[in-house]
Amino acid sequence: MIKVGINGYGTIGRRVAQAIMLQKDMTVTGIVKTKPDYVARFASHNFKLFSPDDKSRKQLEEGGLRVSGTLENLIDDSDIIVDATPEGIGAKNLPAYKKAGIKATFQGGEEPSVAEASFNAYANFEESTGKNYVRVVSCNTTGLARTLSSIKSAYGIKHVSATLIRRATDPNDSKKGPINAVEPGLKFPSHHAPDLRTVLGDVDIDTVAVKVPTTLMHVHVIQVDLQKETSIDHVLENFLRYQRILLISGKDGMSSTAQIMDFARERSRNRSDLYEVAVWRESVNLKGMKLNYIQAVHQESDVVPENVDAIRAMFETMDREKSLSATDMTLNIGNKVF
Ligand code: NAD
Repeated sequence: MIKVGINGYGTIGRRVAQAIMLQKDMTVTGIVKTKPDYVARFASHNFKLFSPDDKSRKQLEEGGLRVSGTLENLIDDSDIIVDATPEGIGAKNLPAYKKAGIKATFQGGEEPSVAEASFNAYANFEESTGKNYVRVVSCNTTGLARTLSSIKSAYGIKHVSATLIRRATDPNDSKKGPINAVEPGLKFPSHHAPDLRTVLGDVDIDTVAVKVPTTLMHVHVIQVDLQKETSIDHVLENFLRYQRILLISGKDGMSSTAQIMDFARERSRNRSDLYEVAVWRESVNLKGMKLNYIQAVHQESDVVPENVDAIRAMFETMDREKSLSATDMTLNIGNKVF
């Protein structure tokens, strides 16, 4: 059993905690919360609560919650920490992990330099083998890495150009915007292109990101110059070989992210999550060697299976194929409904 502590129990941390609980070879030793809010209260039914420091421990206890200790104690009880704290805090926690000699995974909000390797299960599982510090790339980069790595291994890639239409914030956040504007990121390429290269290798890629007022998923419009000729049918068949890529269609009523999220609710998964990247079947188009497609990414959950696989790579307990299949089975990923 790999003993996993979760530091940071927000959008990502609480989902990873639940996914770890479902694995036969892993257990959750506890979670770190800062405040005695409704999330902490629910969490306290399933997990031991820890605090980042003595000050927040007092706050949690004053809120009526039983606290088992601080992060230091959680580290003592664990083999690895999944750090899912807000951007930049993971890097600040790294010295404590190093001092205690404990492994840790970080999330995409951290710089790549926080870890020894960046991780995507399809693109570069083996690069994290035996590592102590691994960063699971962001939700956008994970979505891009999944489909592009499948295309790269089947046809080779000359160049990628991707426009990322980004959700403004997550559904549980009432502070960030925009709420009535479209906000282009004014940088070419956006940070996603270099981030993608940390897992996909030396691929010529340009990205640009535009923020829009929605909380439901990111949408990526992708153009790939292939190295090898193919057909639309072959590209679709190739996507179907990958469990974490889901082909959807407007003909099934899924013409926007609203219906995709409703479809996820229909599937009755935990928190209505959609771990797979959803590619619109009819958007897959070929003009000579130029391939186009459009995909949607559920930002709250697509990195969850990746965190589970990263842990197995770091402990070298399963190879890529075995780990992915164990994770997919337990999270019910790739269970084709159409
Ligand atoms: P979040 O704000 O939802 O959750 C972070 C949690 O950590 C909160 O509960 C916060 O109270 C807590 N926290 C704050 N300071 C802490 C500290 N010092 N110690 C322990 N806990 C602390 O954030 P999130 O969206 O889950 O993001 C976490 C990481 O995952 C970031 O690197 C982010 O970039 C990345 N990520 C986010 C998404 C997404 O769409 N939300 C997707 C993929 C990756």
